[in-house]
Amino acid sequence: MLFQWRAVRQYLLPVSFLCLFGFCTPLYAAALALNESEQAYLRAHSQVSLCVDPDWWPFEQISRNGQHEGIAADLIALVAERTGLNIQLFPTVDWEASLAASQAGECMALSFLNSTPERERWLIFTEPLLEDPNVLITREDTPFISDVAQLQNVGIALPRGTAMAERFARDFPHIRIIGTASEQEALQLVVDRKADMSLRSLVVAAHTIRSEGWFNLKISGEVPGYHNQLRMGVLKSETTLRDILNKGVASITDTERMQIVARHTGMQVVAQKVTDWRLVSMLMALLLAVVITSLFWHLRLRRLNRRLAGMARTDALTGVGNRNALDEWFQHELLRARRFERPLSVIILDIDHFKAINDSQGHLVGDQVLRAMALLLQANLRETDKLFRWGGEEFLVICSETPREAALSLAQRLLEQVRSKHFEPGGRLTVSAGVACLQTQGGAPDGGQDLFQRADQALYRAKHAGRDRVESCC
Ligand code: GH3
Ligand code: MG
Ligand code: MG
Repeated sequence: MLFQWRAVRQYLLPVSFLCLFGFCTPLYAAALALNESEQAYLRAHSQVSLCVDPDWWPFEQISRNGQHEGIAADLIALVAERTGLNIQLFPTVDWEASLAASQAGECMALSFLNSTPERERWLIFTEPLLEDPNVLITREDTPFISDVAQLQNVGIALPRGTAMAERFARDFPHIRIIGTASEQEALQLVVDRKADMSLRSLVVAAHTIRSEGWFNLKISGEVPGYHNQLRMGVLKSETTLRDILNKGVASITDTERMQIVARHTGMQVVAQKVTDWRLVSMLMALLLAVVITSLFWHLRLRRLNRRLAGMARTDALTGVGNRNALDEWFQHELLRARRFERPLSVIILDIDHFKAINDSQGHLVGDQVLRAMALLLQANLRETDKLFRWGGEEFLVICSETPREAALSLAQRLLEQVRSKHFEPGGRLTVSAGVACLQTQGGAPDGGQDLFQRADQALYRAKHAGRDRVESCC
């Protein structure tokens, strides 16, 4: 039975389409697989305490009924859901109290913060849950700020204890920092002309300006490299917890992030299509794997099919064409000869007393003789003559463009070649031949169907006439 490439393709295509439409989630699950020590950590820790900023909307806040809510809360809920961690809020009054509780080891994790050298003294950090650029907020009348380092005699309002305040003081010591208790207060100072500017996360700034109606404020520039990379912070001793969290963070797609930010800021998701590159690259890799596998199988099956097709037309012992190949070739040549009224002849050759070789020297020697005979006949034919094994110790030659006389002399030549050869093993041999030819010119048109029968009759006559001779029936 031939291998069917179509049958394989039938399965490969639906599989790749299913993956395209998102049914490959098991791949995600595999990516979240926790190792043994991580699973042991989950079993040993029934809950993980989390300190947050109770007043940092829309990033996060603690609601009146004590719930952690906002962008960070939703992102962390996704991480908890996917890793199996039971993350419980450890409420505090403000961010500074959360930092203090974390330092005191009262909560194992902090929700949403930049990593700074100061914080690295007691914390290790996950990969960013969210990246958000920091922008300079000024009053409407201030020109665009292209380089903060060039600013002179200005004051910037920044909430105390924040990573940005810490970093800004280090990078721009010539700029006066006005510490505030909250982000709200920092912007209020700018509105009230008590500070020239503030530095805010784009997400928070856009939300606050909108919700407070501070339309005399604007975004005047960016400080290069001042991106908030908002991560979870974990006590230094909890490396396994950090690793588990990282697996959860890695599972969040850019689309999920955008939807969460949009939900809490009221901002329209940017019109430009957000491409989830992680998902795209996974799908690309998957499709590539499917294509490569398909190609591999396609080539392999094509090679096998070719081999099988070849085997189906070749005589295994002698390597010449078998009856299948003969039928195919004869139909083709017969059609051509009749259509163009061209001569066509066939010669059947039968080894004389072949049975005696088998009987006296064994079947294997008989096989060797058959192979040697095929080689000898083949070597003495023109390119247009085709040799086939007709059966047993009989061969058949289809001689295209060959009238009776030419076929007779070819058969004689073949007999001479056999006669003069000493087969090793096998000894001296002779063959008998029957020739039949197609009558295409003049007289009634010859159907050609009984050509083989006539050649066989001629062979029979040659045998009866003493063997080692050629007879014809044309
Ligand atoms: P004749 O001159 O009348 O043709 O006599 P013969 O012995 O050649 O013819 P016969 O038909 O009596 O015997 C043919 C023998 O060929 C019998 C069979 O076992 C043998 N034979 C057929 N196919 C094979 C084969 O593939 N290998 C071998 N070794 N022998 C085969
Ligand atoms: Mg025979
Ligand atoms: Mg014979």
